[in-house]
Amino acid sequence: MLQDQEAHAAQMERTFIAIKPDGVQRGLISEIIARFERKGFKLVAIKLVTPTKSFAQKHYHDLKERPFFDGLCDFLSSGPVLAMVWEGEGVIKYGRKLIGATDPQKSEPGTIRGDLAVVVGRNIIHGSDGPETAKDEINLWFKPEELTNYTSNQEKWVYGVN
Ligand code: UDP
Ligand code: MG
Repeated sequence: MLQDQEAHAAQMERTFIAIKPDGVQRGLISEIIARFERKGFKLVAIKLVTPTKSFAQKHYHDLKERPFFDGLCDFLSSGPVLAMVWEGEGVIKYGRKLIGATDPQKSEPGTIRGDLAVVVGRNIIHGSDGPETAKDEINLWFKPEELTNYTSNQEKWVYGVN
């Protein structure tokens, strides 16, 4: 059953995904990108940046009362982060599923953190947790002109749009 173009367009979402300094240093960039790419999601923006501590504090502002906040922001700003925007139907929620639970001890095998990380303070990847945070995080990390708009050749096969 083919989906029509409008229904497909209405369900398209974008999410912010970042490989943290531990994931970059451990050589896991291609492994992680491959999982999003093979699923059928589309990469629309990507850059390698070392955030400042104050930028990290902005990114994690929701957690500023938590005891691990300062160490977390020091860590995020300690080296290059691979910042990305991925697009697809349901990508915000499903991206979190691909990533797995926050604590890798509790992440299911088959998830990124379950397969590739061991402790919560070094869980290698970030993903937006909802539509509002996705919008805010994309705006924080990327300028509008850094976001690409293109039709992937795969789209008609991934979604069955006519
Ligand atoms: N974190 C931590 N200790 C904790 C909880 C979280 O170091 O007890 C770190 C961990 O790196 C996590 C990040 O803080 O990824 C953000 O926490 P959040 O609860 O938003 O988890 P996430 O959305 O990344 O799964
Ligand atoms: Mg979070």
